[in-house]
Amino acid sequence: MKEHFRSRTAAMATVCALIVPSSSFGATAENVILMISDGASWGTVDMASYWEFGEKGRQPYDGFSVKLGMTTEPYSEPQQVYDPDTAWDTTPTGDEDYFAGYKTIKQGSTDSAAAGTALSTGVKTSNGRISSDPEGNALPFITQEMKASGRSTGVVSSVGFSHATPAVFGAQNERRNDYHAIANQMINEGTLDLIMGGGNPNFGDNGQLLGTPEYNWLSEEDWAAVNAPDGPMTLIQTKTDFEALADGSLEVDGRLIGLPEIRETLQASRDPFTTPLDPNAPGSPNLGFPVGHEMLPNVPTLATMTTGALNHLGKDEDGLFLMVEGGAVDWMAHANATGRVIEEQIDFNHAVGAAVDWVTEYSTWEETLLVVLTDHGNGAPMGPNSDKIPFEPIQNNGQGNLPGVLWHSGNHTTENTLLWANGAGSEEFLDMIVGQDPYLTSILGFNDGSYIDITGVNPAIRNAAGLATPTPVPLPAAGWLLLVGVGVLAGLRRSGLASRP
Ligand SMILES: [Zn+2]
Repeated sequence: MKEHFRSRTAAMATVCALIVPSSSFGATAENVILMISDGASWGTVDMASYWEFGEKGRQPYDGFSVKLGMTTEPYSEPQQVYDPDTAWDTTPTGDEDYFAGYKTIKQGSTDSAAAGTALSTGVKTSNGRISSDPEGNALPFITQEMKASGRSTGVVSSVGFSHATPAVFGAQNERRNDYHAIANQMINEGTLDLIMGGGNPNFGDNGQLLGTPEYNWLSEEDWAAVNAPDGPMTLIQTKTDFEALADGSLEVDGRLIGLPEIRETLQASRDPFTTPLDPNAPGSPNLGFPVGHEMLPNVPTLATMTTGALNHLGKDEDGLFLMVEGGAVDWMAHANATGRVIEEQIDFNHAVGAAVDWVTEYSTWEETLLVVLTDHGNGAPMGPNSDKIPFEPIQNNGQGNLPGVLWHSGNHTTENTLLWANGAGSEEFLDMIVGQDPYLTSILGFNDGSYIDITGVNPAIRNAAGLATPTPVPLPAAGWLLLVGVGVLAGLRRSGLASRP
């Protein structure tokens, strides 16, 4: 099935061939799982693979049937549009940017609010907006449509649950930092059946109990409400409960909110914060972890949260919609904290693995669509000599060793990012292709260069899930002829006028 995702004409040829038998093609996705590694540049994806496996190609999404580039520019006037040749321009600049392409991708980037809004609504908006347009007007978002279709819905994040990316799938607000109002809508509006993420007011960055609660990510009133026996949602906090939800020994009726015993992010803010760690430095206590020391023992992994969420929502016969975010990849990329970026990306990769396992065990690819992407690049990490060699890839130093990397920014980029999709309706993404970026092939070796814009994800998912009338696909003349040909042929066979070749 993989080969024919190469180009539209090839896809068309395959369309006809597939009119005969095909399982997930054209199937409706009852279950949709959207997984976002926030701020994961292509170099970040490679770093995690090199550290964990010593090679690329071993990630759960590497075998997915759809691989596309995805551009992420936010709303702007005039609208900035991605251009491969300027984004990958190797002309030396003679300044701290080194090459023209580096300078290009550092300008005009999106934040996670605008990128998330493009994903949840299909509309480009200004930075800072939560499912609202550039003027601040609320926009309908996909979770509402999924809920209205009878599916169960949820968001899971490794950072604050009312932070930008989970927020756009559960609230509308013209200001991303209006956390209390965002949390209030997520908890009380009823669009979400499940919320998991950071933000527990009683715990610090190392999982320690605080003397005085801190209401950063939700208000004191909403915290009291979710702690009340008849509150709007059932609260779980302990690692034990998250693991019990994941192994099925704990079942919760109704709406569920899971806030682990941590301030705002699972592991990335734990002490000591060393960036970057030199693995060969004397006294590096434990090289089993990219940053050289153990994880906090009292918080679940993103994989455990993902499995628990799928178990909870998967009870619904009408299907589910779940967004899972690896949010601290972005936080650590801003800090150019190589070891922590790797930890966070690996945690995300394992969560994707958990989702694939859930599909295999409790569902099928004929009824489930799984999409893996980032919302924008961050830090432009490349090879250690990429100040001299344009777009040099990350240097592989083997399994368990920090890879060689040079960070070119502490902020988001407009680089072409990587998207993977698999299962029911995944072919809908092909209809959103807006251009060809040959460097995705020549430099990254990722795909045939085809890419979509971030605003194409929403209609592709809606088409796959049968939410809205599928966007009409302008079939080129050749396609119609082929279809007619197949139809006539089938007719002749039925009438016995044509014998099998
Ligand atoms: Zn960011």
